[in-house]
Amino acid sequence: MTDCIFCKIGAGEIPADIVAETEDVIAFRDIAPKAPVHVLVAPKAHAPNVAAAAREMPEVLARMAIVAQQVADAECDGEFRLIFNTGPSAGQTVFHVHGHIMNGGALGWSA
Ligand code: 5GP
Ligand code: ZN
Repeated sequence: MTDCIFCKIGAGEIPADIVAETEDVIAFRDIAPKAPVHVLVAPKAHAPNVAAAAREMPEVLARMAIVAQQVADAECDGEFRLIFNTGPSAGQTVFHVHGHIMNGGALGWSA
């Protein structure tokens, strides 16, 4: 997509604090972290949300989970939350699928 901020980060067109990258997945620090570890993992190709990604690029979605584990291995002893907000009422503000890799501190919510 032409006007998608995470497409542009994935393409290297705008800067980000990248912590892991593969051919089709990128992980970068959230610009406004809400936990001591708060990294976003996203495909380089565009999909609007996690269900669309599961339909359109299931292997890439699986590789996002593997990259998330690698980030957590490096940053927080391999333990993490992986949160996909879907839709504005659930807090989604960037409509390019991304998982929030979070840990550390008091996360304030538990299932
Ligand atoms: P959402 O609310 O869609 O689940 O998550 C979007 C996240 O992206 C937010 O936590 C927000 O802080 C982060 N974010 C928005 N714009 C940028 C940006 O340009 N760079 C980075 N690194 N994070 C961003
Ligand atoms: Zn995009």
